[in-house]
Amino acid sequence: MFAQIVVDVPAGQTDRLFDYKVPESLQGAVSPGMRVVVPFGPRKLQGFIIRLTENTTVKKVRNIDELLDVTPVLTPELLDLGSWLSEETICYQITAYQSMIPAAMRAKAKKVLYLQEEIVHFPVFIQTLFGKRSSIEWNKVPMDKDLLSLIRKEVRDGRILLEYEVKDQARKQSYKTIQVTPKKSREELEGMAGNRAKKQLEALRWLLEHYPETPVPLKQVEAEGGFTRAVLQALVEKGCVVEKTIEQYRDPFKDKEFQKTVPLSLTNDQAEVLHPVREAVGTQTHETFLLRGVTGSGKTEVYLQAIQKVIEEGKEAIVLVPEISLTPQMVNRFKSRFGSQVAVLHSALSIGEKYDEWRKIQRKEVKVAVGARSAVFAPFEKLGLIIIDEEHEGSYKQEDHPRYHAKDVAIWRGRYHKCPVLLGSATPSLESFARAQKGVYRLLELNNRVNNFPMPEVELVDMREELKNGNRSVFSNILLEKLEDRLQKGEQVVLFLNRRGYSTFVMCRSCGFVTECPHCEISLTYHHVNKQLKCHYCGHEESMVNKCPSCDSEHIRFFGTGTQKVEEELTRLLPTARVIRMDVDTTSRKGAHEKLLTKFGSGQADILLGTQMIAKGLDFPNITLAGVLAADTLLNLPDFRAPERTFQLLTQVSGRAGRDKLKGEVVIQTYNPEHYSIVHAKEHDFLSFSRQEMTQRKVGGYPPYFFLALITVSHEDLSQVITTSEKIASHLRERLSIQTKVLGPTVSPIARLKDRYRYQCMIKYRNEPDLTKTLREIADHFQSEMAKDKLFISIDMNPHMFM
Ligand code: ADP
Ligand code: ZN
Ligand code: ZN
Repeated sequence: MFAQIVVDVPAGQTDRLFDYKVPESLQGAVSPGMRVVVPFGPRKLQGFIIRLTENTTVKKVRNIDELLDVTPVLTPELLDLGSWLSEETICYQITAYQSMIPAAMRAKAKKVLYLQEEIVHFPVFIQTLFGKRSSIEWNKVPMDKDLLSLIRKEVRDGRILLEYEVKDQARKQSYKTIQVTPKKSREELEGMAGNRAKKQLEALRWLLEHYPETPVPLKQVEAEGGFTRAVLQALVEKGCVVEKTIEQYRDPFKDKEFQKTVPLSLTNDQAEVLHPVREAVGTQTHETFLLRGVTGSGKTEVYLQAIQKVIEEGKEAIVLVPEISLTPQMVNRFKSRFGSQVAVLHSALSIGEKYDEWRKIQRKEVKVAVGARSAVFAPFEKLGLIIIDEEHEGSYKQEDHPRYHAKDVAIWRGRYHKCPVLLGSATPSLESFARAQKGVYRLLELNNRVNNFPMPEVELVDMREELKNGNRSVFSNILLEKLEDRLQKGEQVVLFLNRRGYSTFVMCRSCGFVTECPHCEISLTYHHVNKQLKCHYCGHEESMVNKCPSCDSEHIRFFGTGTQKVEEELTRLLPTARVIRMDVDTTSRKGAHEKLLTKFGSGQADILLGTQMIAKGLDFPNITLAGVLAADTLLNLPDFRAPERTFQLLTQVSGRAGRDKLKGEVVIQTYNPEHYSIVHAKEHDFLSFSRQEMTQRKVGGYPPYFFLALITVSHEDLSQVITTSEKIASHLRERLSIQTKVLGPTVSPIARLKDRYRYQCMIKYRNEPDLTKTLREIADHFQSEMAKDKLFISIDMNPHMFM
């Protein structure tokens, strides 16, 4: 028998299947989706078995060395998906497969030999090897040819059992138990212990009396019986008791009580959108639904009741939520409905915790996986539904190999399992919305908030006017008045500050010099806490200067406003306000995020001030005012999606206010009050926004009218970057159809990063069936130069980042 294997060398030449022979000792134990160790040239490499075959055309086929798994880590479906993914996103197959398994599984396997019969029945060599033990680790066995062939024979005859114990970086949490060796009489056991070992006999008798048949934790025996570990260990070695390690899941939610919730009785609108989804689940029909529901329209309850149908059908569901809205509040809503049937895959979990959650899915112990992007690879085998909440979110696109979009993967899996995919958002991406309007997806709509609470009133404040009237504060007079009003009424406020472009940079007032990172073309950010300047791209850090390095002036100081500065100003203007600040600095400790939110939710603060992370998923009834301090910061990014992102963000922030009986209000401060994305956000008018934005996209030749591919070339040597990117561009112009536009090469918006110069080419196309093939050829062509010359070429299909 032979195995076709993808080996762990991410390179063009090795990106194919290699044939290996399955040695006799492993026959019956191997199956596709398992990881193996194979010889590769002079090296030993890990790989995945993709398929097993009867024949091979390879002349000198080598043996598989080791098997790393006892059960497959990739299902047949995921093996197919990986090969599709590698084609679509132009990445190596090994990269695609590695991305589907938990990080913790970059594993080494421990091989253990277990005697299946009494030691006396074995040849003397083997008796000497095992001594008094009944098992021995493979790597403790001397590599003696005669001994090895003896062992091999015994393994073949089934008198020695060879087992693979996966030893992972993230060790499973486990505890040791002991149990009286089964199927032995009391006399036999006492004989094995020997008369002279008084303590050991005592322990053995105690065990026989208290736990004759079941395993007990070693700790418990020590505590209850008062025996030392050495005594018990001796019994293990003599074979009177057997030791067993019991695996225990680390449960990140174990300290928490989930109050069970029951399905709410749906509003008519909710029932109407739920119906076709449940029907598709019931009839096992693949269809993609786009649920456009305003904030607070009760989309989550629709998800929950759709999942309930999935569980009733004996199937499984995946729910994707953006990383930043994967808050405890969000998780609670699923856990409290479906309890222990839910696994949560969250990047804030430790590697080990994530691994445990993944194993629950693999072992079919849960029915629902809730998680961020990569949860789309959850190894379920009976999928009944995949939900993507906030489907417009950019974080569903992975910005590293494989550069996949979770939506594409979800739809692929939906087709495979003949199950529906449900995309939900208050502000769908224009790509999805266009597809829904063309009937590629089925559009479902929730146009009103639950109980018909009105959408909040939005007021735009022109910050240029404020400046003209002499107000240099980050707070307009109107916002300040409203803040005072809420404080007086005891109602709560969220204030939103976009971190990007709004952090503090250092500039000389005399000559305009800005301190930049010496490795990246990016200004350094001032961190108040340790008075350091930091590069947010490469981590470079330096101390704050007192004098301008360029002109020696002492008028060098930081500009811009970070959350910390706003907090200071807020407490100065409103000394009685209790403020909670949420940003990367205050939430970096594990659990801090949740603590701060709980504190705010229980009314221990008046104002929640934060970055992106507070824009989503907050559902507190007492919030009656939401403020956006500078709506423009996103608008000015060099990205065709900037207006769309601005509209989405403002809509999300508005959605935080007035979610209960109290009326909500929103204040948006901006220097561009006429911009259509801001005007339509004020009116909660998605349809008008999308109509206008579609016109812009058509004129600019952007998605959804055109597809994009972005090629970025980088190297330490500028001239090499330019020549390479020019070669690529002209090659593309030759190969692609004349309707396709190849733009560039031009310098990237971030011209230098980590000491590497960066140039890019953009391809705009409508129909280019061979594009991925052509791009792969380009990547392969430069492969050797990339390896020896540190040239990087990155290819991003449907890019979401243009920096
Ligand atoms: P969305 O996800 O669309 O923003 P949510 O699902 O968070 O909206 O719902 C908003 C609020 O309405 C939540 O507090 C939720 O518990 C409540 N809600 C949803 N559906 C119903 C219903 N059918 N009856 C009563 N309350 C509901
Ligand atoms: Zn200066
Ligand atoms: Zn840097």
